[in-house]
Amino acid sequence: MKPSLMDYTQKELATLIKPSFRAKQIYGWLYHQYVSSFDEMKNIPKALKEELAEKFVVNPLTIVNKEISIDGTIKYLLQMQDGKTMEAVWLKMKDTQRDENGEVIQEAKYTICVSTQVGCKVGCVFCLTAKGGFTRNLTAGEIVSQVVTLKKDNEHKHNRKINIVYMGMGEPLDNLDNVAKAIEIFKEEEGLCIGGKRQTVSTSGLSNKIDRLGEMDLGVHIAISLHAVDDELRSELIPMNKAHNINSIIEAVKRFPIDTRKKVMFEYLVIKGKNDDLGSAKKLVKLLSGIKAKVNLIYFNPYPGTPYERPSKADMVAFDEYLIKHGLLCTIRDSKGMDISAACGQLKEKTKEEL
Ligand code: SAH
Ligand code: SF4
Repeated sequence: MKPSLMDYTQKELATLIKPSFRAKQIYGWLYHQYVSSFDEMKNIPKALKEELAEKFVVNPLTIVNKEISIDGTIKYLLQMQDGKTMEAVWLKMKDTQRDENGEVIQEAKYTICVSTQVGCKVGCVFCLTAKGGFTRNLTAGEIVSQVVTLKKDNEHKHNRKINIVYMGMGEPLDNLDNVAKAIEIFKEEEGLCIGGKRQTVSTSGLSNKIDRLGEMDLGVHIAISLHAVDDELRSELIPMNKAHNINSIIEAVKRFPIDTRKKVMFEYLVIKGKNDDLGSAKKLVKLLSGIKAKVNLIYFNPYPGTPYERPSKADMVAFDEYLIKHGLLCTIRDSKGMDISAACGQLKEKTKEEL
């Protein structure tokens, strides 16, 4: 596998490419024009392009499958140079707003959900990604390219705002060096210019790595996949909870640098008969007291072979109302793309069956 031009910050590229001003031009081709070959880089001399082509690829990903939902969600199956595949999702968060004359007053808002690994080592029992075990970490360029590839496919101009969530396949903090590099490349002013505030790293709670991410001071948000309020159930759902228990996560979150106006997001996957009762809601309120938290309730998304079930809407709403009544900011995640294969890992599984 050759390294990709998307593996590098602009400064790093300038040390690899002589003369260094060419790095800035190449950054423009990669992140403003979304080119996928050296041929398309019009103002770069042929000799330099040939030299670069020997060592690097431009874009390390190709689209192999795509499912489009009626709600605007698009799920992509992307292939890497070694033939392995992973998923990225294009999420429409807000429709285009128009005035009475049909003029656009605000453009539609999108979020891209990126993967960080092929498979995952954490092994959560409810997660389809975990089923196939762990294959490998994604490189920084493979993370960066998911955003470039999806923006290009949707003709989303480089200067239009976009949010990134690290909520696809894999545990971002288990691949922290490459994830941190990707965060920095996304932030590059002459590249995609996506600030830390627009990037949210979701983790199953590797508490020591939450501290490390905080020390890196990248300005990103974190989301904690909590899912349970006591260690017994959490260890059943997320086996590595034995090493990083709820208390150690809460302590790490308290140390994490966050913007004073922002809150830490806690994701709570609701599974029927497991954690959907008001007793759990009560414990959750207690656990999060003293933290600037907001809770995102997620319906468990079933897949063939899982013993777990989706909770009822009534239980979900009751849980949500309890948290709100007790002062927590809480939302129920609307299951985008329910008609396509919504939960992460599902498109990959489906394509495997078809092939
Ligand atoms: N590894 C990280 C990020 C990727 S998973 C983490 O665990 O946070 C992103 C989110 O999808 C997590 O909150 C995870 O718990 C959730 N998830 C996994 N399987 C799911 C399923 N079957 N239904 C609904 N959400 C699921
Ligand atoms: Fe890994 Fe996240 Fe799935 Fe758990 S939920 S197995 S941490 S991807």
